[in-house]
Amino acid sequence: GKFTVQGKTVFITGASSGIGAACARAFAGEGARLLLAARRMDRLQALQPELLNAGALEVHLLELDVREGPKVESSIAGLPSEWQAIDVLINNAGLSRGLDKLQEGKPEDWDEMIDTNVKGLLYVTRAVVPGMIERGTGHVVNLGSTAGEMTYPKGAVYCATKAAERAINDGLRQDVLGTPLRVTSVDPGMVETPFSEVRFRGDTKRAAQVYEGVTPLKPEDIADAILWAVTRPAHVNIARILLTPVDQA
Ligand code: NDP
Repeated sequence: GKFTVQGKTVFITGASSGIGAACARAFAGEGARLLLAARRMDRLQALQPELLNAGALEVHLLELDVREGPKVESSIAGLPSEWQAIDVLINNAGLSRGLDKLQEGKPEDWDEMIDTNVKGLLYVTRAVVPGMIERGTGHVVNLGSTAGEMTYPKGAVYCATKAAERAINDGLRQDVLGTPLRVTSVDPGMVETPFSEVRFRGDTKRAAQVYEGVTPLKPEDIADAILWAVTRPAHVNIARILLTPVDQA
């Protein structure tokens, strides 16, 4: 039968905004225990009452910068004992910075994207997966992107980080074969979140232009796909979900 997330511990990185917050709401509605991480604790705190109202069994908040390797490991190892057993990990924290030709790009933007989207993904996965293997249960969902499949102009580095996510997702899947762990990549096209505002460092006008002529996906659409993948029967591994707005090329 269906894999139920009622009472299960779901760890979401980047839960303070956009897709991560939508995932928190979706899993709250199923009665999960939510372990939510981000740098902006005020955002997580503001979300907490709503999640408990929506049906989350418990919510625990973790201040975490996924770029800080050793701290990621110690923060996760130092969780209260009742939050150590993670059933579902949603590696969602990520960002893009700038939209520049490679030859004109800013190395500090590259560092931020690679450190967050690639190294952060690795650090969190490395800190969580051994416990899943030990307990004989677990599902890792990684946020990829259509950007990982097709590079767009001025997006070389962001697209490279999402191509890396694809390799890491598929590599992890190979490396946990023989265990009951499941590994899924969820790869959206355009989703309406603060993502573009972050990319353009608060330039809302430029951010709005990104969605011109397209009805973007909503963060709930992605959360819905993730919840679907996670609630398949335990013997079913959904390798990849690619979802785009109907009108996105
Ligand atoms: P948002 O900007 O709304 O959310 C990004 C989240 O990532 C925030 O909660 C932020 O939390 C967190 N985050 C960023 N850097 C760090 C860090 N160093 N440590 C911990 N958390 C961090 O964007 P989206 O919801 O749109 O993006 C979520 C994921 O979906 C990303 O991986 C993105 O690449 C991917 N995606 C988005 C698409 C879109 O069109 N929006 C399309 C395809 C994929 P805080 O700042 O509080 O730390």
